[in-house]
Amino acid sequence: MDPDADALERSAEAALRPGTLDEFVGQRVVRDQLDLVLKAASARGATADHVLLSGPPGLGKTTLAMIVAHEMGATLRVSSGPAIQHAGDLAAILSSLDEGDVLFLDEIHRLARPAEEMLYLAMEDFRVDVVVGKGAGATSIPLSLPPFTVVGATTRAGLLPAPLRDRFGFTAHLDFYEPHELRAILERSAGKLGLALDGDAAAEISGRSRGTPRIANRLLRRVRDWAQVHGSGRADLAAARQALTVYEVDERGLDRLDRAVLGALCTRFGGGPVGLSTLAVSVGEESETVETVAEPFLVREGLMSRSPRGRVATADAWVHLGLQPPADALA
Ligand code: ATP
Repeated sequence: MDPDADALERSAEAALRPGTLDEFVGQRVVRDQLDLVLKAASARGATADHVLLSGPPGLGKTTLAMIVAHEMGATLRVSSGPAIQHAGDLAAILSSLDEGDVLFLDEIHRLARPAEEMLYLAMEDFRVDVVVGKGAGATSIPLSLPPFTVVGATTRAGLLPAPLRDRFGFTAHLDFYEPHELRAILERSAGKLGLALDGDAAAEISGRSRGTPRIANRLLRRVRDWAQVHGSGRADLAAARQALTVYEVDERGLDRLDRAVLGALCTRFGGGPVGLSTLAVSVGEESETVETVAEPFLVREGLMSRSPRGRVATADAWVHLGLQPPADALA
């Protein structure tokens, strides 16, 4: 996506974000647990424990971080693993925190090693050692920090080193949403957009949203576009189907990347097994994108399987692409 289109999508998305835990649909267990953590901290007049949220993109990690800050009446500070190149970048952020602030660190698994080590200490002891000067004259000045809460988000919890993971008092994994939860999200979003959305259209969109609220909201906006340009302005079933066809989202919710990955797996690699990086190169994508965006959904849909020797297409994948599965295809 080009940067302008990306920024537009992000701001359209922000307008639909739930602001409180009560408005946050689904993930009931995580919501209940987090509610308890926050209420207990508030009752004690303390800052909340550090929170680690993991799960595929678009399931609500950023939204929950904002909700944590809102529910605690705290200021949210936002940064991310890739934005923190040096320990000094993190020291600058940490030393500017006020008491009770919530520091959201997106893609926390991508923090550079020295920054990661500085973060452990800061999370555990609310202390940071600032190095002043260079070479032999460098001195380390310990600086105490006011208590604050880190909300870390990661699509790849397995990549977090244990010492960092252990500093989080509450960790939660967000799972894909059920169709009825996505319908509830779509109905709420349609209300916010002032869009009339029929029940069968909501069901159609939710069925093609890969269990992901971000995708559901994005598809809803595309259906709204179609209804405004070609239809009556109402998001009915016909508008939903036509719009989703235009945007190449098939009836199972696979988009162009998913179909490219499955297509390559079946036609170029005979159904696999093939290594992740080879597969990613063959569709012109980063391994991380294939691994975190396409793969969890394809595996969950029973279209792809992971074996020690690589990725394998199931018989269902061949059939979905309109191809004859080989006799030895995985059931
Ligand atoms: P990424 O890791 O890609 O940044 P994320 O997990 O942080 O993704 P969010 O940005 O929090 O995802 O959510 C994407 C969009 O989906 C938000 O704009 C929000 O409107 C919507 N959304 C996510 N979860 C929910 C939910 N439980 N209820 C209602 N809307 C939701």
